[in-house]
Amino acid sequence: MSRSVDVAVVGGGVLGLATARAVLLAHPEASVAVLEKEDRWGAHQSGNNSNVIHSGLYYAPGSSKARFARQGGELMIRYCQEHGVPVRRTGKIVVATSTEQLPRLAALHERGRANGVTAQRLSAREIAELEPHVAGVAALSVAETALTDFGAVCAAMAAELGGLGAELRTGAPVLSLTPDGPRTLLRTPAEDYRARVFVNCAGLHSDVLARRAGARPAVRIMPFRGEYAELLGAARGLVRNPVYPVPDPALPFLGVHVTPMLDGSVHVGPNAVPALARQGYRRRDVDPRLVGELLRDPALRGLARRHWRSGATELARSLIHPLFVRDVRKLVPEVRSADLRRHGSGVRAQAVTRSGELVDDFAISSGAGGIHVLNAPSPAATSSLLIGSRIAAEVLDRLELPDRAAGLRSTEPE
Ligand SMILES: Cc1cc2nc3c(=O)[nH]c(=O)nc-3n(C[C@H](O)[C@H](O)[C@H](O)COP(=O)(O)OP(=O)(O)OC[C@H]3O[C@@H](n4cnc5c(N)ncnc54)[C@H](O)[C@@H]3O)c2cc1C
Repeated sequence: MSRSVDVAVVGGGVLGLATARAVLLAHPEASVAVLEKEDRWGAHQSGNNSNVIHSGLYYAPGSSKARFARQGGELMIRYCQEHGVPVRRTGKIVVATSTEQLPRLAALHERGRANGVTAQRLSAREIAELEPHVAGVAALSVAETALTDFGAVCAAMAAELGGLGAELRTGAPVLSLTPDGPRTLLRTPAEDYRARVFVNCAGLHSDVLARRAGARPAVRIMPFRGEYAELLGAARGLVRNPVYPVPDPALPFLGVHVTPMLDGSVHVGPNAVPALARQGYRRRDVDPRLVGELLRDPALRGLARRHWRSGATELARSLIHPLFVRDVRKLVPEVRSADLRRHGSGVRAQAVTRSGELVDDFAISSGAGGIHVLNAPSPAATSSLLIGSRIAAEVLDRLELPDRAAGLRSTEPE
């Protein structure tokens, strides 16, 4: 059986849900289906991340990440408050643990200023006042950072979408996308959808979906696992608010940080190790087909050439517990090996160009019949309401439907 809809969104993570919501808020008469292959919303990146609403400190000035994180974060905080999703503005500190890191800390401070984020420079004494168990020679304190639960955000959005009349399907993997006159036919095991426009928000599978739709994406998705540990017992009291290291500017990852979560647990991580399966949450998850593809792909050789040193360090830290503990102790010296226990992982969908460069910014491309979200790493969950409304504007344009939320969007970043 095939159903006709105006819009089919593939992927029920926070971006797919936010996009469907924005379309329906702007044009309530539109018929919108959200198709998710798993049996629940936010099953992958959106439900397995650090749950931090970022301030916009880190990102290259002028980039989409910089423009969308700041305002998107404020929108997300308001969304959580209005929809009963736990949220707390905690602030955070980014700590330089050696004098060699001071120039990078200063550059980060400058970046924050350019992005409109107010960060306060702290001396070692001021760090000790704020976080008595954290060691550092200097730090930046950022007030805007907040914590939430993006899994709960997805659940709230799905509930809202139900009320807005969306057709919500879990357990509905999209198997193929083929042109069908002016529409696209999306096949799922139970039902087919004939959509005027489709939006590919398939995260770790977005490049696969793009190719299935006949597009030739300029990037491929490399899965990077982020492994977490948690602090046990009294060690949980060693930090009050999120504590971050100074990130390596060559990598789009923020480094292993210590985050007291809203439920009282304290997470340490995530690291960033290449995964050998798109949903490779465990080291033993190996997809021989993906491994074969990667080995044949010049992008991987380019990536290895550029980042072998940091890749080897990350891998060693993942495999050798004392190395992980050593790095955590640089930030919080009192943490002992026995205070840490493994605590799950998430897998990032990181786009890599054909020459092996890690794509730093968000990447969304338009193709025949649809829109493909090809790179939406952190802070895309933070920025999801804004990204969703941007994609919705293009969807409505393609449908030639008036965008009744355009007035709201005029205050958003260009
Ligand atoms: C370890 C880690 C830490 C992070 N920390 C933060 C943070 O603190 N703050 C922040 O802002 N961001 C963070 N991020 C990034 C954030 O989680 C992502 O940017 C965001 O969740 C992306 O959402 P998405 O909807 O694009 O992807 P996803 O949530 O991965 O959703 C994609 C969905 O598509 C579905 N799908 C795939 N193929 C098909 C198909 N064929 N048919 C139907 N459905 C399909 C998948 O099942 C999945 O549910 C982190 C990510 C990770 C992994």
